[in-house]
Amino acid sequence: MSQNLFDRLEASITSPAATAIETLAGERISYGALLARTGQMANALVSLGLTPGGRVAVQIEKSVEGIILYLATVRAGGVFLPLNTGYTTAEIDYFVSDAEPVLLICDPAKAGAMAELAAKAGARLLTLGADGQGSLSDAAAPADPAFATVPRADDDLAALLYTSGTTGRSKGAMLTHNNLVSNALTLRDTWAYTADDVLIHALPIFHTHGLFVATNLTLFSGASMIFLPKFDIDRIFELMTRATVLMGVPTFYVRLLEDDMLNCETTANMRLFISGSAPLLAETHRAWRARTGHAILERYGMTETNMNTSNPYKGERVAGTVGLPLAGTEVIVTDPETGALLPAGEIGMIEVRGANVFKGYWRMPEKTAAELRENGFFITGDLGRIDARGYVHIVGRGKDLIITGGYNVYPKEIEAEIDEIPGVLESAVIGISDKDFGEAVTAVVVPTGSPRLSEADILQALAPRLARFKQPKHIHFVEELPRNTMGKVQKNLLRDRFAAKL
Ligand code: ATP
Ligand code: MG
Repeated sequence: MSQNLFDRLEASITSPAATAIETLAGERISYGALLARTGQMANALVSLGLTPGGRVAVQIEKSVEGIILYLATVRAGGVFLPLNTGYTTAEIDYFVSDAEPVLLICDPAKAGAMAELAAKAGARLLTLGADGQGSLSDAAAPADPAFATVPRADDDLAALLYTSGTTGRSKGAMLTHNNLVSNALTLRDTWAYTADDVLIHALPIFHTHGLFVATNLTLFSGASMIFLPKFDIDRIFELMTRATVLMGVPTFYVRLLEDDMLNCETTANMRLFISGSAPLLAETHRAWRARTGHAILERYGMTETNMNTSNPYKGERVAGTVGLPLAGTEVIVTDPETGALLPAGEIGMIEVRGANVFKGYWRMPEKTAAELRENGFFITGDLGRIDARGYVHIVGRGKDLIITGGYNVYPKEIEAEIDEIPGVLESAVIGISDKDFGEAVTAVVVPTGSPRLSEADILQALAPRLARFKQPKHIHFVEELPRNTMGKVQKNLLRDRFAAKL
């Protein structure tokens, strides 16, 4: 039997009349309609030149058609390549030259700027707007809804997804049909998802979180999702009265907590709040629980691996941890230098293995060989430890580890202490080159304004709490931390900015 994600999805549909996607405009797309429209789109893609294995690069605003395009690409045996809507033409040029797509789909407003780079890469350019209109939909509208799904094997590519570029240049992660399907099915069991679930979908659909976790899980459960173009507090409060699940990045939860509307009543219909893509502060977890009675469920994943760990649905959801390995995924902690397995409880490199782990980096055989071991373990680049109960704690990225005077300093530990100080909203701790220490622990602090804080106040508060080598050598105050579109703090920008000031 074909292992095409689409075949497996189609086989799982039991109620074609049920709603799959709902828009704010009140449009409801049933599972049956999704199949028919995906068939039309797949026919259009093939007539435009897509053949099995061909890439379809897409930089479009969030829309139902965007999901239809994803499913149709996979159905036609193609490889879906979504791109962040925030990327500039110059950045798109890099991705398109790297991936050599057959088709490039962009917003109608950007078609002029994209024409040249599409031609250079040999890609055919088509348009699709936020309203679903454009030359691609024009091609799909008259097409036949019947389409024979192209058979695919488990390890054929379904998607090429570029990483968020938090630690350097984005890398293309090659994801197979089985990577995506196996993870969706595992999450369905882990989070007790059913056809009755209604997800508030406020994430972008160019990233693994909004595209695969949210969308694949919903569709493989026969559930429905309500599409918000973007995070919108008022809409979210309205929708919580009839939705059951919210998936968000930590900033969603921080913002919702700032609103007086958040309480036990306004969240009473909700079954589950899920957080991921960046660390959720233990403080946010506690505040959310106190206000709503719900314990946010934090999980850990990445572009290359889909989801790896999750706090339990039934057991204890421990604040500040990313929970237990998912069924079918192994998580180990190794010595970052030697790769040897570390004793339980020690901090080291997190490595993962399972059906969720990608096939390698696109056209980067050396990087693939360096990070994906022959025994199947992927070296995530994240540092952490596994506690006695099996919960995984992430202490930060390997690239953010500070080595000062020969000692390892994990930024998260220092950040947590600084964030506890009254008058601090949040902080980021980085290492800055230093002739005496190798690297100097440097704190970048966002103050709340009351009480007003000086550098000395912060150092004084930390002195009894942290060993001397962990205490910051420099403190900078800023209005806000630089974050990328997934809410991740861009420490490389902070390092560049403050390196010059020393
Ligand atoms: P790049 O690899 O290009 O530098 P990136 O790693 O930010 O970018 P993604 O694949 O979007 O790109 O993000 C995965 C990373 O996000 C993980 O490796 C981890 O560092 C972080 N992450 C995801 N979920 C969590 C979480 N719950 N807690 C802490 N960190 C998380
Ligand atoms: Mg990464």
